[in-house]
Amino acid sequence: MTEELFREDATLLHCAAVVTGQGEGGVMLDRTVCYPLGGGQAGDTGWLVSGERRWRITDTRKSKEQPGAIVHLVDGEPPAVGMAVQIEVDAARRQAHRRFHTATHLLCALLPFPVDGCSITETYARLDFHTDEPFDKEAIQAGLARLVAEAHPVGHRWITEDELDANPGLVRSMSVQPPRGLGRVRVLEVEGVDLQPCGGTHVSNTAEIGAVVVTKIEKKSAKTRRVVLGFAG
Ligand SMILES: [Zn+2]
Repeated sequence: MTEELFREDATLLHCAAVVTGQGEGGVMLDRTVCYPLGGGQAGDTGWLVSGERRWRITDTRKSKEQPGAIVHLVDGEPPAVGMAVQIEVDAARRQAHRRFHTATHLLCALLPFPVDGCSITETYARLDFHTDEPFDKEAIQAGLARLVAEAHPVGHRWITEDELDANPGLVRSMSVQPPRGLGRVRVLEVEGVDLQPCGGTHVSNTAEIGAVVVTKIEKKSAKTRRVVLGFAG
């Protein structure tokens, strides 16, 4: 098991950790600030540091072999099991993920259709909605700008699986169901705007999203409309 520090605080960019295993192209650590690829959001990159030595973390993934462990992919010979390391997240990339990810929650509030695809990267975010209704690019962009300017607080809390089952409307995504079997589910609330299960990294207030623009609206299929976001300027 890897302790997931990023779930409680997405602003954490450093932590001390110990290498607990090697494999799958990298190392497992006892705890981490690195978000692993999932829920449409890209994995973090960064560095592992031990004294004078530095290893580039090229990606972060959930382990396929050890449930609950997180693999930090590194270039070259990985640090040895038992070694104490410092983890440093690539801060600029993380901040882009946090801003775009929170912006996708605003899109969910503006476009009340089921979500059937999502991708959050450093340079763009895209969300696919299950609908055949036409989308108005200017209206969506104006709606995003308004919700950013209104500076809504963003926070998370944990609910039981029973509470989730009693509120099936909380699950907006058709393609990604919240993880089950842990007894609790993390829900993300943009106060007064959006509430849904989500394990990703977000900003703490919509004002931090800053200027985002709708770069493209595509008809991906008869029943799918894709919205792509970018940063302005
Ligand atoms: Zn989210």
